Amino acid sequence: MCIFCKIANREIPSNLVQEDENFFAFHDINPKAPVHVLVIPKAHYGSFNDIPGELMGKMGTFMQDVAKTLGIDQSGYRLISNIGENGGQEVGHLHFHIVGGAKLHWGHFADADPKDFF
Ligand code: AMP
Repeated sequence: MCIFCKIANREIPSNLVQEDENFFAFHDINPKAPVHVLVIPKAHYGSFNDIPGELMGKMGTFMQDVAKTLGIDQSGYRLISNIGENGGQEVGHLHFHIVGGAKLHWGHFADADPKDFF
C-alpha cells in the first residue's frame, strides 16, 4: 500500500485538516509556504491522469471547502498537481497541493525561457 493510502487509512499519522467520505486533506510535512496542504482521494489513483471526471468534480468542490476552512479562499492561493516524471511528481498517489498564506511568486516559470528546454 502506498504512503498516501496509509495516511488516508490512518496507518501513518498526519496533521489532518478535514476529510469526507472520498477525500482527505492534511498539512504537507515540508511546507513551501505559510499554508501548504495536500488533498488526496481516499481511493488510489496514480495521478491526475487516472481519476474519473465525476470524482474529480467532487474533489474540486472539496478543495474549495478546504480553502475556506484554511481561511485563504479570499486572499488567494495556488492549486498544483505534479504529474509524472516531467511534472516532478514524487509520490505516486494523486494529490493536489493547496499553497497560500502569502503572496506567491511564479517561481520556476517566472524567469524561464522556453528555449532553455530545447
Ligand atoms: P509531489 O512532488 O507533488 O509528489 O509532492 C509530494 C509531497 O508530499 C511533498 O511536498 C512532500 O513534502 C509531501 N509528503 C511526503 N510524505 C509526506 C507525509 N508523510 N506527510 C505529509 N506530506 C508528505
